[in-house]
Amino acid sequence: MALIKIDRENFFYNLNQFVKRVGSKDKIAIVLKDNAYGHGLEIMAELSYEFGLTQAVVRDIYEAKSIDRYFKNILILGDRAVKNSKYSFALNSLDDIKRAEKSSIVELKVDTGMHRNGIALDELETALELIKSRDLILKGIMSHNRSADELSSELFWQDKIFNIVKERVKSLGFKNIRFHSYNSASALRLDCKNQDLIRLGIGAYGYNELPEVYNKIKLKPVLSLWANRVSTRRLKKAQRLGYGGQYIAPKDMIVSTYNLGYGDGWIRSNNLKVYIETLPILGRVSMDYISLESIEDEILIFNSVSKIAKEMNTISYEILTQLSNSIERIVI
Ligand SMILES: *Cc1c(COP(=O)(O)O)cnc(C)c1O
Repeated sequence: MALIKIDRENFFYNLNQFVKRVGSKDKIAIVLKDNAYGHGLEIMAELSYEFGLTQAVVRDIYEAKSIDRYFKNILILGDRAVKNSKYSFALNSLDDIKRAEKSSIVELKVDTGMHRNGIALDELETALELIKSRDLILKGIMSHNRSADELSSELFWQDKIFNIVKERVKSLGFKNIRFHSYNSASALRLDCKNQDLIRLGIGAYGYNELPEVYNKIKLKPVLSLWANRVSTRRLKKAQRLGYGGQYIAPKDMIVSTYNLGYGDGWIRSNNLKVYIETLPILGRVSMDYISLESIEDEILIFNSVSKIAKEMNTISYEILTQLSNSIERIVI
């Protein structure tokens, strides 16, 4: 099995960059959905607690249950609202409001332009009345930005619309409501003063996906992936390696097999020339193995996944979240 090392110091460093932006630890909800972006749900929950965070965001109740001892409040993005003093539930539609259990704590999602989830602007009054009449406890109003990490002005008009929503909700007499619409990229680009909370995901894990032109806040990747040597052999020039014999040795060389494969969530790149740090993967990725021209016992697959993500034509989020839960994770 491969090995994942979680760098506590880097995680705390990243969190501190965002604390500086929002002013307090209580205004950060660490997003731990999808196994904490592949980092390990429990490990990251415990580290967040150790750092002093009190709020988290997950995808469903199962994730929430396994970590709720670490937090004061957990926002659940995609599950039916049920009564629980520690959980609040994002309501993504009028139907979600109708389905919610009486007395559950809810946060209404408003669609300010992404058109993925949330009620439409002209449903706002109806939604708020329905929440009242169904005896739900409204804790928050939230939204999500569609282009926070792109070089465009889209983020600004969405932000404006959210501010209008905020004024409308306040003018209807709702009090003690928290308003939040920022993810990592929004929080890096905009002033966070008008947010009661930021929902911090990828930034906490050390990736700043903003284009270079923005004044970059340097973040430090938290997860590094390692593999161990399984066996070593001599290849003669022109011998072919692995499934399909796709790799043809250009010279006599020494190659080793390492214990990482697509069964561990590593992408089975067939034709892509993927480099592990400086070494190319030789031939096809197997279910449990890759071959490299190396004799090191332990080899670093990546410290930062950005470059590999680019080579694979995807984003860091995808490679990280796919890392199998069964890979051992240790904190360093
Ligand atoms: C995943 C998610 C976030 C976190 O986004 P990052 O870009 O990783 O910071 C915030 N809000 C919602 C609703 C999400 O689904």
